[in-house]
Amino acid sequence: MSPRELRFERNQRHFRIVNERIAEITADWGGNELSVICECANTGCAARLDIPLDQYDAIRQHPAWYIVRPGHASPRGLEEVLERHGAYDIVEVSSDSVVRPLLTAEQ
Ligand SMILES: [Zn+2]
Repeated sequence: MSPRELRFERNQRHFRIVNERIAEITADWGGNELSVICECANTGCAARLDIPLDQYDAIRQHPAWYIVRPGHASPRGLEEVLERHGAYDIVEVSSDSVVRPLLTAEQ
């Protein structure tokens, strides 16, 4: 795995874990909208994205799906945009990416 791919994997996993905690806390408080952190591979990005809790939970049913700010999908073919929702895009890690097994592993 190249350094770039390793950085990509670490960054996305890290923010997914952070967002999972935000979702848990929001659900505990009875909220129905989340402000999550962009799960793109850019190490300098900490963009906040507002997303309904039920939509977030639906995305998390798919281990290869990530939530990113529009335009933040990897331009290098590591992932592809599945859906555009205005405030955020849903991307899927490419099935031929070497980082996919790590990104889709159970937490
Ligand atoms: Zn981003």
